[in-house]
Amino acid sequence: MENKLSIFLLILCSLILGSCTMSGQNYKEQNDMKKYNELTPLEKAVIIDKGTERPFTGDLLNNKAEGTYICKQCNTPLYTSDSKFDSHCGWPSFDDEIGGAVKRIPDADGRRTEIVCAHCGGHLGHVFMGEGFTAKDTRHCVNSVSMKFVPSQESSLQTAYFASGCFWGTEYYFQKLRGVSQTTVGFMGGHVDNPSYKEVCTGETGHLEVTAIAYDPKVVSYDLLVKYFFETHDFTQTNGQGPDIGSQYLSCIFYQNEEEKAIAQKNIDLLTQKGYKVATMLKPAPTFWKAEDYHQQYYQHNGKQPYCHKYTKIF
Ligand SMILES: [Zn+2]
Repeated sequence: MENKLSIFLLILCSLILGSCTMSGQNYKEQNDMKKYNELTPLEKAVIIDKGTERPFTGDLLNNKAEGTYICKQCNTPLYTSDSKFDSHCGWPSFDDEIGGAVKRIPDADGRRTEIVCAHCGGHLGHVFMGEGFTAKDTRHCVNSVSMKFVPSQESSLQTAYFASGCFWGTEYYFQKLRGVSQTTVGFMGGHVDNPSYKEVCTGETGHLEVTAIAYDPKVVSYDLLVKYFFETHDFTQTNGQGPDIGSQYLSCIFYQNEEEKAIAQKNIDLLTQKGYKVATMLKPAPTFWKAEDYHQQYYQHNGKQPYCHKYTKIF
């Protein structure tokens, strides 16, 4: 915990000093990992080059179906149909975003406020206040081209649970993976209901720091998630992860059925054959307890890199 506190302070200091070098680097790194969807020339012109589609031409403008609007480039859920309203301005309009999904930045024109996907930095459009359209008095004016619509009935997301040390880092890497639509950090495996982070840090609850990964099995398989889990932490470390020492930082796959267990075991066997001494535990998944809000999407919110995880190609 002391480690996390000092890292937190370090991050705070560097933010204040303005040393944060964000989106360009992140974009390149994430693209290198082939996480993003391929874009058409029109999508590139809007999402990367911050262009605007012609008004009244987007295919989501008059969409009234129930569902979720996700980022065209990285599949992050941005808006729900509940927040969509008709502003007659020619572009899809929303009066609220999904928490933390949209980032506001001053537009290059010096007047407007640009909105981008908080995950990949893809251009969405602009946000306007004080127009009085809805009770929230906010209009996210979003290009149809920047989004994809997923109807409610087609959502067939599954959840996987992984522990690989500090959950900030585990979540950071899984958020980058194509097919992962949401991540939540929390605790599993202990004997205390709804524990606080502070309680877990005492080492007396028996809990591990876990990331719950909501993924679309049509895009990414459980097998690939397991391989990525091994490739993003040191699974041979027996006393924690990196500088984080303690039982809450141990490596573990929490499986939910025999199929997941078999896939996890197969990959452990593959690593053993490659000569690795795998310390990762394989346990049936108990209740997942969500951690406090300030732990959720930690690195995404402060724009920094994990200190205890890195990607290494193994498979
Ligand atoms: Zn995105």
